[in-house]
Amino acid sequence: MATVIPLTDLRAAPPATAREAFIRDATRAPRADGVALVDTRNRPLHDLRISVTDRCNFRCVYCMPKDVYGRDFPFLPHAALLTFEEITRVARIFVGHGVRKIRLTGGEPLLRKNLERLIHMLASLGDIDLTLTTNGALLGRKARALRDAGLRRVTVSLDALDDPTFRAMNDVDFPVRRVLDGIDAAHAAGFSPIKINAVVKRGLNEHAIVPLARHFRGSGHIVRFIEYMDVGHTNGWRMNDVVPAAEIVETIDRAFPLDPIEPNYAGEVAQRWRYRDNHQEVGVIASVTQAFCRDCTRARLSTDGKLYTCLFADAGYDVRMLLRDGFDDAEIGNAIAAIWRLRADRYSEIRAANTPREKRIEMSYIGG
Ligand code: SAM
Ligand code: SF4
Ligand code: SF4
Repeated sequence: MATVIPLTDLRAAPPATAREAFIRDATRAPRADGVALVDTRNRPLHDLRISVTDRCNFRCVYCMPKDVYGRDFPFLPHAALLTFEEITRVARIFVGHGVRKIRLTGGEPLLRKNLERLIHMLASLGDIDLTLTTNGALLGRKARALRDAGLRRVTVSLDALDDPTFRAMNDVDFPVRRVLDGIDAAHAAGFSPIKINAVVKRGLNEHAIVPLARHFRGSGHIVRFIEYMDVGHTNGWRMNDVVPAAEIVETIDRAFPLDPIEPNYAGEVAQRWRYRDNHQEVGVIASVTQAFCRDCTRARLSTDGKLYTCLFADAGYDVRMLLRDGFDDAEIGNAIAAIWRLRADRYSEIRAANTPREKRIEMSYIGG
């Protein structure tokens, strides 16, 4: 019987070899049928985020700065990407372990060719909340096909309404009008409500908060302002660049008075508010100033099939190797369960004493 490497040894050993040995051994771990799958902090496995490409047509300054992600950046070759069949197979195994929400992301997911085919395949997995996060650049063209393929919800990232700020933030001179047209196309295709994600970075787009709130507050779409996070190591993040969610709420409240609303479910990451006059919803995501690790039920599958149990992890587990080395679904399921049972991540709660920055994985690869 092969020995499973304990977590302590795993952390001390070189990650690639130790994690490979661990995940292979874990395929033979005894099954624990009927026992709830929770991690060491009693958190169930509920959400799976799948990065379908590490490439992007934007170079947002807080995510893929141009000086790093220039012409020579070594993006993954096509053969390294999980195929749609592989993604669907892994997703099915995750659903068997309790996952009820799947989010496709990247990089820019709409750059992945024939994405509708993948959506169609994932939609057949049963009653899961299937959603996607996009920068909206290609949404005008693709919204209808995505909807027809079975996508249930869509989140569009949009950090400013004024063209100069938006172009400066995406850093590829992309006009805001085309993202707004994409949102309209998504609405016309039947997506509702659409969520709009706006990352706020100090000195860059604080002035965009009230105009974004004003623009969307009568539209039925829900804007969520996100604190700028220290993901990866290329964006030069500093705590001073973070506009705390409390300050964002005060800013909106001064223009349009707000009342708090209850979360939709325990552990919801967005704090929800509504405008006192028209009762429409707006939210903030305080990932930095009010960490929500305690309720974090998310696993992430990178573009090349590595499983990460935290956005700030320094290494993942090679599920693609299992897929391509002939392990069956039950064996892969055992490995995923073993990894989740060992999970202890709570990076945002212990931010000060954490992984050195140069080791962290970039958001465009692991999936935001
Ligand atoms: N390209 C798609 C998009 O932008 O919507 C999907 C991938 S992107 C990595 C997913 C989300 O992560 C986006 O809403 C983006 O604004 C957010 N994001 C990226 N870098 C971030 C950072 N440093 N802090 C907070 N949010 C970030
Ligand atoms: Fe691309 Fe999204 Fe990152 Fe912007 S946030 S660079 S759109 S992956
Ligand atoms: Fe989840 Fe890690 Fe973020 Fe905490 S830091 S909320 S564990 S992804």
